[in-house]
Amino acid sequence: MSETVFVTGGAGYIGSHCCKLLAANGYRPVTYDNMSNGRPDFVRYGPMVEGDILDGFRLDAALQEYRPKTVVHFAALIEVEESTREPTLYYDVNASGTLGLIEKCKEHGVEQFIFSSTAAVYGEPPSSPVTLSTPTVPINPYGWSKLMSERFLHDCAADAGIGVTIFRYFNACGSDPDTELGMRFEGASHLIPRLITAAAEGTGFSIFGTDYDTSDGTCVRDYIHVWDVANAHIAALNSPVEVGCVRTFNIGVGRGFSVREVLESVERIIGSKIDLKFADRRAGDASELIAGDIDEAASELGWKAKYTNIDAIVRHGWDWYLAEH
Ligand code: UDP
Repeated sequence: MSETVFVTGGAGYIGSHCCKLLAANGYRPVTYDNMSNGRPDFVRYGPMVEGDILDGFRLDAALQEYRPKTVVHFAALIEVEESTREPTLYYDVNASGTLGLIEKCKEHGVEQFIFSSTAAVYGEPPSSPVTLSTPTVPINPYGWSKLMSERFLHDCAADAGIGVTIFRYFNACGSDPDTELGMRFEGASHLIPRLITAAAEGTGFSIFGTDYDTSDGTCVRDYIHVWDVANAHIAALNSPVEVGCVRTFNIGVGRGFSVREVLESVERIIGSKIDLKFADRRAGDASELIAGDIDEAASELGWKAKYTNIDAIVRHGWDWYLAEH
């Protein structure tokens, strides 16, 4: 009988890729998702329970039924700009949601907890790349809600009887190389799906801010393939951490690309020019976020990003666009 892994947010972008890899590695992923942002057709690798992360009764019932040893917690709201407009909602779903889930893990004898954190916990870092000792001073409620969750995990791990792995993802992007799963294009706020849509459909694209203190004035991010992100979770499962301990990793490639460089990559891959516009800076955006200390995940988990080429990442996004349209 394969080991059950309880995946909150398993119908979403990163969660579904993780479920696919879990199944491929002999685990049984059980998705717990309220379907606010997930897709039913992405839940194809194991059972599904429809439920909200804030619904304690539903969580109890699901954990009671499936008795997982490991919980992977993706369910969260993830839009930086939205978090500046709806902070209460973000603190509720992301911070309270994590705290409630920790409590349930304690009640149901869960042993390992893998948490989706974010580079946004670093805020506007004083130097680049950001290492694990860079101070964590978020600049938006999204980043704070994730940092609070990390704090809860540090403080509660021993009492809850869980070993904790925290992954601070940089910019997850790309799509399943087999084009079974992928990013959302419609209503997307993230850079790569927006660029692909703009290039494919001739709709305009706006760069948010060209006056940042970066090489070309646009924001720089570390774009990490969603497949690599998902793979980090398998690596963590394969080398569990002691109960009461918390380990934290930056999950990135260790190289940054500016918005303009990503735009050029999309134009190269799709072979069409994007109708470029310029807009003001977006609220809550840091100028540059590049992962440092990526060797930690290599030495402790044996994990390393496989897709280090931005064109390869964009190519998988484009393949997914073609599969969907
Ligand atoms: N961006 C942009 N235009 C867009 C969407 C995003 O210029 O239509 C920029 C955004 O300001 C940021 C970068 O692209 O500097 C990455 O944004 P994304 O939302 O993909 O990820 P984030 O870093 O905010 O999590």
